[in-house]
Amino acid sequence: MLKIFKKHDLAPYLTMKVGAKAEYFAVLKNKADFFEALDFAKKKSLPIFILGGGSNTVIVKNIKALVLKNKIEGKKIKKENSREIYLEVMSGESWMRLVNYSVSQGFYGLENLASIYGTVGAAPIQNIGAYGAEFSQVFDSLIAYDLKTGREKIFSAKECELGYRDSIFKRKAKGKYFIYSLVLKLKKKAKLNLSYGAIGEEMKKRGIKNPEPKDVAQVVHQIRSSKLPNPAVLPNSGSFFKNPEIKNSVFLNLQKTYPEIPFFTSAKKGMIKIPAGWLIEKAGFKGKVFGPVGMYEWQALILVNYGGAKAWDIVKMIERVKKEVKKRFAIDLEAEVNII
Ligand SMILES: Cc1cc2nc3c(=O)[nH]c(=O)nc-3n(C[C@H](O)[C@H](O)[C@H](O)COP(=O)(O)OP(=O)(O)OC[C@H]3O[C@@H](n4cnc5c(N)ncnc54)[C@H](O)[C@@H]3O)c2cc1C
Repeated sequence: MLKIFKKHDLAPYLTMKVGAKAEYFAVLKNKADFFEALDFAKKKSLPIFILGGGSNTVIVKNIKALVLKNKIEGKKIKKENSREIYLEVMSGESWMRLVNYSVSQGFYGLENLASIYGTVGAAPIQNIGAYGAEFSQVFDSLIAYDLKTGREKIFSAKECELGYRDSIFKRKAKGKYFIYSLVLKLKKKAKLNLSYGAIGEEMKKRGIKNPEPKDVAQVVHQIRSSKLPNPAVLPNSGSFFKNPEIKNSVFLNLQKTYPEIPFFTSAKKGMIKIPAGWLIEKAGFKGKVFGPVGMYEWQALILVNYGGAKAWDIVKMIERVKKEVKKRFAIDLEAEVNII
């Protein structure tokens, strides 16, 4: 029988370690647990909120919901041919563990996405990406359950409408489904993507001439560990804001004032992407601490809880950063982290 807790503190389940209370809370270990939870929520007329690894979520007020921490784990090869492997993975699996498994088998596709926190089920929500790769490149389909009716729905990759840190689950399907399992399409042989950041350089330094997926994963892990604060030591939620996309004409105007402004081309026509970290740094927040919170000294995009922060401290910090960036650059920053 599913154990359901009342007025449960959520801070321990979030990498930012700031939380509020859930009206009800339970840990899911299998599908039957989910359906039991669904019945309970129906009887109490409560909405359900799904929590994975809590690495992209900040909860700033008590939630009148049944919060379900997803620990449904497991994976198996669904089918394979001479070129591809279709791997079925339960949504509560750790993403890092999945990448480690994949590269240890010599599969291609997940290596650049090594060392990203959280669960597999959350990966499609914001189409996780790093080091020149995106989840969308390996995604085949997923099975989800409607959080009201319990009805099963299979989403194809196309139906998930994956974009830059975006999907249908952040828009019209937001909070409506429990993503139960995913199918990933991995390759038995492929060209590795070494073009991003310091990956190629590091390979050379290590004298690796014919790298394998596991070498890329190791290098990515090393680079990430040297740049990002470990949430177990300095609680944080990774990149706090999305890189804003602005019109080309607006960008050209900004470039007149800031000739050094870094930029990337956007997948959207006529738009330019600006690194949010640069804007925040230029606005004077890099390494700036306000009481228990601040923007990380080595990467201004990361909001850190330096100890004992309350929800209010986080909210104030977000407002401060957004206001100053708007004032200086007339750009609206949008949170990448889910703020509840
Ligand atoms: C130090 C650090 C570095 C990071 N680096 C990156 C990076 O390089 N690239 C990147 O993309 N992200 C990065 N992140 C963010 C984070 O790791 C990812 O967004 C990750 O996918 C979140 O997984 P989670 O299980 O912790 O999600 P949670 O925070 O638990 O949930 C996130 C959202 O997804 C929903 N959700 C979770 N699971 C399910 C499910 N099974 N069904 C339906 N809804 C669900 C939740 O309701 C919530 O809205 C980083 C985070 C940290 C702390």
